[in-house]
Amino acid sequence: MVKAIVGANWGDEGKGKITDTLAEKADIVVRFQGGANAGHTIKNKYGKFALHTCPSGVFNQDVTNIIGNGVALNVPVLMKEIDDIIARGVPKPKLLVSDRAQLVMPYHVLFDQYEEERLGGKSFGSTKSGIAPFYSDKYAKIGIQVCELWDEEYLRDRLENICTLKNVMLKDLYHKDELDPTELFNTCMEYRKMLEPYVADTSAFICDALKEGKTVLLEGQLGTMKDPDHGIYPMVTSSSTLASYGAIGAGLPPYEIKEIIAVTKAYSSAVGAGVFTSEILDAEVAEELRRRGGDGGEYGATTGRPRRVGWYDCVASKYGCRLQGATDVALTVIDVLGYLDEIPVCTGYEIDGKITTEFPTPRILEKAKPVLETLPGWKCDISGIRKYEDLPENCRKYVEFIEEHLGFPITMVSNGPSRDDIIYRESALKK
Ligand code: GDP
Repeated sequence: MVKAIVGANWGDEGKGKITDTLAEKADIVVRFQGGANAGHTIKNKYGKFALHTCPSGVFNQDVTNIIGNGVALNVPVLMKEIDDIIARGVPKPKLLVSDRAQLVMPYHVLFDQYEEERLGGKSFGSTKSGIAPFYSDKYAKIGIQVCELWDEEYLRDRLENICTLKNVMLKDLYHKDELDPTELFNTCMEYRKMLEPYVADTSAFICDALKEGKTVLLEGQLGTMKDPDHGIYPMVTSSSTLASYGAIGAGLPPYEIKEIIAVTKAYSSAVGAGVFTSEILDAEVAEELRRRGGDGGEYGATTGRPRRVGWYDCVASKYGCRLQGATDVALTVIDVLGYLDEIPVCTGYEIDGKITTEFPTPRILEKAKPVLETLPGWKCDISGIRKYEDLPENCRKYVEFIEEHLGFPITMVSNGPSRDDIIYRESALKK
C-alpha cells in the first residue's frame, strides 16, 4: 500500500518528521518531485539533520530510499548528503536513483542566479538551486535523463544542442561566460561514476514491491500553496507538490495511493515573496513566534532565511487539504504555542467587503484580509504528552476548532520535533 505525506500549506509543515516517524513501519520511502531547494529537518537518535535531497527513510536500515523520476537530481548535493550522514554515524542507507530522473546541471544553478539578478526587486525569491531552469528544460525536452549518461555519443550531441541554445542567452541577455560542451560532457561522466551504484528502474522496483504487499511512503516537498497549478502562481515552485503527482513522479498507479497525510503546522510560516494573508504584522509578536517556532526557530533549512510567520489559516489549509485529497491530517508543532495567552486563528477572508472561506485565485487573494477569531491559550508545556485526552482542554479545543473548519480528520498531533513526539487521535470525520 502507498501512503503520501504532503504539505497542506507553504512548506516547512514538519513533513520530514512525520515521514521519519512513519518510516519506522515502511519498506520504501520515495522522493517524487522537487530538488535541493527545500529541506526537511529531522531529529532522531543520530542527531539533527537537514535533508535536501535524501528521502527521510535514510535513518532506517530496513528502508529502501528512492529518488524518483520526478525529482530534480543534483548529483554532488546528493553524494555530499550521503557522505555527511555516514560521517555522523548513520549506517550507509539503502538508496536507488531512478534511471529516468533528470540531472540538475551546473548551468541550471547559474541561470537561476542570473535571472534573479536580472529581475532585481521583482525576483521570485528563488533559493537559486536551479529548480526553475531545470524544470523549464525538462518540459522543453532539453533535460538530461540519468540513463543518457551511458549513451556517450547521444549525450555529446544533446549537449552541443543545449550549449547552442543556452549560449545565446548567456551572451546576449546575461552577458556571462558561455558554456563548453566538452566540459559539460566531462561533468556528466563524473556524475555517472557517482551514480553507478544506485541507478535502477525504480518504477518497476516499486510496482514489484507493491505486489509483495510492501508499504511505500511518498514524500512530498513544499506544500499545496507552492503547486504551479493550484498554488499562489507565480510565487510557486516548478514541480507539482500534490499527492496525485506522486503517482507520476514515482511511477506507480494512482489508485495505489490509499492514504494521503496532509501535514499542516499549528501556525503558519512561509518563505520568499508572495501573498501571506494571515501573516503577523506586529514585528515583535512575529519575532517571538519565529524565535520559539519549529525546533530552534523558523529559519529556512536550506537558506537559513528567517521565515515569515502567521496565525493558523483555515481557509488556505482547507483548500490545501482538499487539493491534496487528505485522508488524514497531521497537525504539527502545536507545543510551540504553549506560551500564548490567546491564539488568533484565521477562519475567513474578507474580499471586497464579503467574507468567504473559499481560497481564491492568486490575483484576488492579494485583496484578501484575514478574519480572525481568538481562542484561549493553554499556557503550559505539552511536550511529552502521548495521549490526546491528556492534553489541556484548551489545546484540545484548538485542535477541534481547526478540524471543524478544515472538514478533514486530524488523526495525528505532533508535540515535539522527535520521532516519538506524536499523539494519535480518533476523529469522527475519519471514514
Ligand atoms: P518540512 O520541510 O515540512 O519537513 O519542515 P521543516 O523541517 O522545514 O520544518 C519543520 C521544523 O519543525 C523542523 O525544525 C522540525 O524539527 C520541527 N518540528 C517538526 N514537528 C515538530 C513539532 O511537533 N514540534 C516542534 N517543536 N518542532 C517540530
